[in-house]
Amino acid sequence: MTALSYLHEPGILFNLRRRFFRCLPYTYTGDIVVAVNPYRWLDLYSDELGARYARMKAGERNQLTPHVFSTSAIAYDGLSRLGRGQSILVSGESGAGKTETVKILMSHLATVARSRAARINGESGADAAAGGMVVAEGAEGDGMQSDDFTIKQGVKRLETAKVIWWTKIIESNPLLESFGNAKTVRNDNSSRFGKFTQLQCVTYLLEKSRVVGHSEGERGYHIFYQLLAAPEADKRIFGVEGRQAWEFAFVTADGLEADAIIEGKTDGERYGMTCKALDIIGVPLDERQQLFSILAGVLQLGQISFKAGKDDDSSAIEDMAMLKEPCQQLGVADPKHLDLALRYRTVRVRGEEIQTPNRPEAALGTRDAMAKAAAAKALYSHLFDWLVARINASTGAPSAAPLGPAAAAAARRSIAGAHGGRPPPRASVVGGGGAHAVPVGSIALLDIFGFESFKVNRFEQLCINYANEKLQQKFTQDIFKTVQAEYEDEGIPWSHVDFADNADLRSIHEDHPHFCRNKLGGKLEFGIKHYAGMVFYNAEGFLEKNKDSIGDDVVNLMMASSRPLVKEIFTRVATGPPPSGHHKVKSSSSSSSSNTLASKFKTSLSVLMETIKETNVQYVRCIKPNSNKSPVVEQLRCAGVIEAIRISRAARFIMLLPAAEREIMSMLAADAGAPGTPTAKDLCAQLLAQLVPKGQGGYEMGRTRVYFKFGVLEQLEQQRLAK
Ligand code: ATP
Ligand code: MG
Repeated sequence: MTALSYLHEPGILFNLRRRFFRCLPYTYTGDIVVAVNPYRWLDLYSDELGARYARMKAGERNQLTPHVFSTSAIAYDGLSRLGRGQSILVSGESGAGKTETVKILMSHLATVARSRAARINGESGADAAAGGMVVAEGAEGDGMQSDDFTIKQGVKRLETAKVIWWTKIIESNPLLESFGNAKTVRNDNSSRFGKFTQLQCVTYLLEKSRVVGHSEGERGYHIFYQLLAAPEADKRIFGVEGRQAWEFAFVTADGLEADAIIEGKTDGERYGMTCKALDIIGVPLDERQQLFSILAGVLQLGQISFKAGKDDDSSAIEDMAMLKEPCQQLGVADPKHLDLALRYRTVRVRGEEIQTPNRPEAALGTRDAMAKAAAAKALYSHLFDWLVARINASTGAPSAAPLGPAAAAAARRSIAGAHGGRPPPRASVVGGGGAHAVPVGSIALLDIFGFESFKVNRFEQLCINYANEKLQQKFTQDIFKTVQAEYEDEGIPWSHVDFADNADLRSIHEDHPHFCRNKLGGKLEFGIKHYAGMVFYNAEGFLEKNKDSIGDDVVNLMMASSRPLVKEIFTRVATGPPPSGHHKVKSSSSSSSSNTLASKFKTSLSVLMETIKETNVQYVRCIKPNSNKSPVVEQLRCAGVIEAIRISRAARFIMLLPAAEREIMSMLAADAGAPGTPTAKDLCAQLLAQLVPKGQGGYEMGRTRVYFKFGVLEQLEQQRLAK
């Protein structure tokens, strides 16, 4: 892309489009890979092809057709040759192909490990990759003696561990997708959480609202439909025998969305796959049944309805029989306790505990429904976090290399208080909980939600776009650094280049240039000028969502459950150790700002950025080709691709292409005829001095290249054509 003679959006679009129709979904933009989702599986992912990219040496990238395999190969190479931690950041809008790309990268990393290992033993890489054989890999060029048996054994063990690790991670993907993905209008298999995978998987901001409802044409989390498509014998255990998805309020508004065939598999088939994957990560049958019981319990919570009570300010459960099933599935001994926990909250007045109805300011019925929904969301998100932790525990780490200092410090900050046998902090936002520093010696993959701008943007969009601003900042800095290095190499003064720095975007005050108030007239509306464009947010519900808490009564009820798994998932997230003597949990609805969802998300993002900073970063930008909602050029802008090209080529100067340079040289040779033997550079300087108006800084001579101010090269071209 950077080799195109003219830099403008139409040229970039034309190039991508032409390549797309030639079944070439991958295009390089400098070091970045742009991946246009082909929406059908092309013959581009064979082990043989994977092995070919694995054999690619540093600096040989342009000799092979552009492919995302080059990204994984370079990461692997950078790790094994230079010992530098690597990360690959994959971004793009919903449905653009991030998750599939990450899976492609993961399986390629396993292939690279196998292929390189095989090469040491003199086999063909492709054979070994296909055969799944794991043997020793010698890090290339590190002077390792092949007869040094002990080192080779050590390397072999490490490499074997790596292959096994990647394989396990790949095997756990269906599980995370069942619990964290759902059908949306933009993607049948849309990830509703962000994910950073290195030595363990860390998840970000699971969309909790989807547990209790979804918009038309979409679905709740896949796992609920899998449960309801399970064999009847299994459904009987969970109290949902003979029941269909459309009967449950939380997962469907009407029957139409119940069926989804995702990548050719039905929900029933996926139930089997999920059970198998749970088995692989070491969840025994008993625990698996408890897990599905919780899911059934969540669905049945959704069936509870309320009616007006005897006096004005009270409500009652419509039919107490509605409580029987959820109580049974969640291990609550007495349905009355669930009734109380949903409709009342305990407050302490002068040391005495008093039961008061839920938030009296809220409308009757709504407030209880909200308490019910909050309980369901808490159950599900805690279960999700537990699952992520189980996956992490089952995969282990391929190496015990030490943490980099900044990442280690950041990790320490993030898990302060979680050590010493105490349960981790109440951190459902970060999921997976705990440290996520990339140790030297690992490759990290980020599958994160892309920039979002809808008609109505809410708290979730603010968090997502905040994350994107953070990543964009790193992205522009990286591109900037690459260009800076080139300029320094060429001896060009650096002061000429500027770029759109978004660093100050979050220091928002009313008079901040990036902040805009009341554009749409609504009191609760405000706008933010993001790097990708203006977004207006509606602040309705911000405070509620940001609080991210459920009543202590529900927490205490769950912690007293007769089901060990229910107890466990709530214990994991309780704040601090339970006070001795009784099982009450310290206030989970504390209003301290460090406890809000936004501040937890912010902290986890800072840790992520610290982590990434210590690694060598590569970028993959995924593009959705055929969405009429978001034109490709918008996506390129949001992904910062245009900006990257702009910085690379035209921050202020355009780089003269070798071909054009040759042309000028030949023109010069024809009519210059200067005495002596001037060098090519001298001739070039002479010609430019004649052609380009002086004193306006129209160009800069580098060591091997000439850099033109934007537009000057085009002017010269016009002059040439006119002659
Ligand atoms: P979301 O943000 O909603 O999670 P996403 O960017 O992760 O979206 P994916 O789920 O990876 O999007 O991709 C959406 C669909 O596009 C996939 O289910 C698959 O059908 C198709 N797809 C993605 N990448 C490829 C590919 N390389 N080859 C063929 N099909 C692909
Ligand atoms: Mg996804």
